Amino acid sequence: MDKIKIGIIGGGAAGFFGALAAAETCRDAEITILEKSTRLLTKVRISGGGRCNVTNSLRGVREFTGNYPRGNKELISVFSRFGNKETTDWFESRGVSLKTEQDGRIFPSTDESQTIIDLFLSLSKSFGIRIITSYDVNEIKRTDSGTFIVYDRKKTGYAFDKILYCPGGFLNKENFNCIKSLGHSIVEPVPSLFSFVSENNKLKELPGLSVNNVEVRIKDTKISSRGSILITHQGFSGPAILKLSAFGARVLKDMDYKTLIEIRWTNDTNFLMDFKFEYSERKITKHGLKEIPSRLWETLVLSAGINTEKRWRELSKSELMKLKLILEKDVYEISGKNTNKEEFVTAGGVNLKEVNFKTMESKICKGLFFAGEVLDIDGITGGFNFQSAWSTAYIAGTGMSIE
Ligand SMILES: Cc1cc2nc3c(=O)[nH]c(=O)nc-3n(C[C@H](O)[C@H](O)[C@H](O)COP(=O)(O)OP(=O)(O)OC[C@H]3O[C@@H](n4cnc5c(N)ncnc54)[C@H](O)[C@@H]3O)c2cc1C
Repeated sequence: MDKIKIGIIGGGAAGFFGALAAAETCRDAEITILEKSTRLLTKVRISGGGRCNVTNSLRGVREFTGNYPRGNKELISVFSRFGNKETTDWFESRGVSLKTEQDGRIFPSTDESQTIIDLFLSLSKSFGIRIITSYDVNEIKRTDSGTFIVYDRKKTGYAFDKILYCPGGFLNKENFNCIKSLGHSIVEPVPSLFSFVSENNKLKELPGLSVNNVEVRIKDTKISSRGSILITHQGFSGPAILKLSAFGARVLKDMDYKTLIEIRWTNDTNFLMDFKFEYSERKITKHGLKEIPSRLWETLVLSAGINTEKRWRELSKSELMKLKLILEKDVYEISGKNTNKEEFVTAGGVNLKEVNFKTMESKICKGLFFAGEVLDIDGITGGFNFQSAWSTAYIAGTGMSIE
């Protein structure tokens, strides 16, 4: 019997994981990875600040999928079969020791993404997976017999029985043409996971300051997030902002990234009345609140129009009200987005309704499989994006090997 020929389009996280899953499931498959650039696994290399945040330790499938603004329903069945536990077992059983940080992010114990790359490359070699670089897939044709012929711009062709399409996320719609020509529809791609630009705001003297457990909301919407926020030279970043950019990716795009955000610096402002009596002789700049750094507190007091020389007992009712309002709903103008150095991803991509999530095979074109960021799936930071890439690729790789 002829060997099954599997073509993997994209030599990234999903491509390698899918190729290895297929090789392990079907020992006589002939597997070829086609990669556009001269380098393999580029994003894995730079991910997590060069450390590769492979996944997150969060338990419970529904808790885990809650971190995906898009794809959360579809991923329930995927993660039930191959979730974070199966992923960490996969790496550890192949010799990669992993460590979990306090916030749940999981990294190789070496703190080097190269450890993951070395594993993928050595396993690929041992399975005889063929890797072709500098091959930019430009067209995929399906013949009447069901064979796929893949072409680059120079019209060099390769024939495959099955294809795993995993070229990552694209913002340029033209990049989806070869998949559209096979009958697929694309959900409009938009950026996700970015920082906010907010120039000349009252916090501009505080770059580098981080505040924990803050709530941020896009004004006049229900889109909010909680976590730490980082004040930057350009505006705002940190987990709470990145999460807000993910859950608000489409709304923010419609607003052309010009909007107002409300920051709730603390959950409970009842302490203001207590402080007026408890600290009556202290200056207002001395507040004893651990969660709000002193430099930020002073700026907020000033922006409430309160003289920082005042003592707590001297605060009028209206001054207390102004301070309360600023602590609960501090409004900032956002004028744009910034993806510098961030783990940016693309929301949008292959329409999930057109994919069978039991196998990751196209419902439209038999023999065509999908994995990774090319799908309309994206997660927040913390290892969630790699997890969806590993899981969809594993299901696709094993699914492809079944006749
Ligand atoms: C700076 C940065 C840091 C990140 N850090 C993390 C992290 O620590 N943890 C986490 O979970 N996520 C992280 N992410 C997100 C994560 O890297 C991606 O979600 C993940 O790589 C997606 O995997 P993929 O295989 O779908 O796409 P990719 O890893 O992007 O791989 C796609 C591959 O396909 C190739 N390709 C594209 N078009 C073609 C074509 N026409 N023909 C042939 N090949 C093609 C590309 O060159 C690429 O090599 C980070 C992202 C960035 C940008």
